[in-house]
Amino acid sequence: MSTYLVTGTAGFIGYHLALRLLKQGVDVVGIDIVNDYYDVQLKRDRLAQLLDFDNFTPIESDLADTTAVMDVFRKHDFSRVVHLAAQAGVRYSLENPHAYVTSNVVAFMNVLEACRHAKTPHLTYASSSSVYGGCTQMPFSVHDRVDHPLSLYAATKKGNELTAHTYSHLYGLPTTGLRFFTVYGPWGRPDMALFLFTKAILEGKPINVFNHGKMQRDFTYIDDIVEGVHRVSEQIAQPNPNWDSNNPDPATSKAPYRVFNIGNNQPVELAHFIEVIEDAIGIKAVKNMMPMQPGDVPATFADVDALEDAVGFRPKTSIETGVKAFVDWYRSYYKV
Ligand code: NAD
Repeated sequence: MSTYLVTGTAGFIGYHLALRLLKQGVDVVGIDIVNDYYDVQLKRDRLAQLLDFDNFTPIESDLADTTAVMDVFRKHDFSRVVHLAAQAGVRYSLENPHAYVTSNVVAFMNVLEACRHAKTPHLTYASSSSVYGGCTQMPFSVHDRVDHPLSLYAATKKGNELTAHTYSHLYGLPTTGLRFFTVYGPWGRPDMALFLFTKAILEGKPINVFNHGKMQRDFTYIDDIVEGVHRVSEQIAQPNPNWDSNNPDPATSKAPYRVFNIGNNQPVELAHFIEVIEDAIGIKAVKNMMPMQPGDVPATFADVDALEDAVGFRPKTSIETGVKAFVDWYRSYYKV
């Protein structure tokens, strides 16, 4: 019987992945520190739904605590580990850099070490489109060399990929990093544009439109992210004896080391994204046009051919469908 460890289960993506696995009858152990980076009640409400399942074991713990992480791995035999816990957010990394070292560097290291000692069959972990920095060659491909992150958040995510590579290379630990592109959907994060815009529009307040609405994002719907994470975790498990650690193409090498993009492959200009939100809500936004923010990138655009070749899936949800699902959830959750 398969047991998944999912980290970040009180978070947006971890909650959705855990829910999907629990509904399938899979045993899930979920770790989260339930920090107050954003509304803790939202995190508690996500967790409350997971607690309805007998096959869910919640652990409230700090992944930066080495002993605590080792204890969890001693008590359980995980068939899959999906590491989604992190200090997210590009802009907050300018204000609170140490949170990123603790939750993205130290915690990741602990998960890698624990997986190594437990001989975990496969570790899937969240990377980010931010590793592409100011890359202007579109779409972003995992074959591109990306060495110039524009924020500390991006640097820690790139650092995760580099560290994972050493563990795959030295210890044969199968690892797959997934570069998520601006994820959105029901139960989404209050620090992200869709949530902030929806809230402000419904409250009749102005919205801040960075880079004068000209920046482009490859907004990716949560169900597509969960499908991709699940397929990768299930299908890419065994180390390939022919894997060449001196020449590891991250997209085409079999496990142990891989990196994929998961994005919608259809970048949308912020100004159009706002129109879609306005349509879904039925109210026009009042806009504050603002310059680009430090650490932000002008555009993101995922090449997902490698993902499709490996697991037979590419995201497919249109922003009209996804934004409507978010707005419906928001109105029902906040009763507005
Ligand atoms: P989230 O903030 O909603 O969830 C992260 C969870 O990790 C939180 O509940 C937090 O309490 C937990 N956490 C943080 N530090 C911890 C620690 N030291 N120990 C234990 N738990 C800790 O974020 P999300 O949107 O669900 O993102 C999930 C992953 O995907 C993150 O790694 C994030 O960097 C990555 N990612 C997200 C997006 C996106 O658009 N949402 C895009 C690219 C990458």
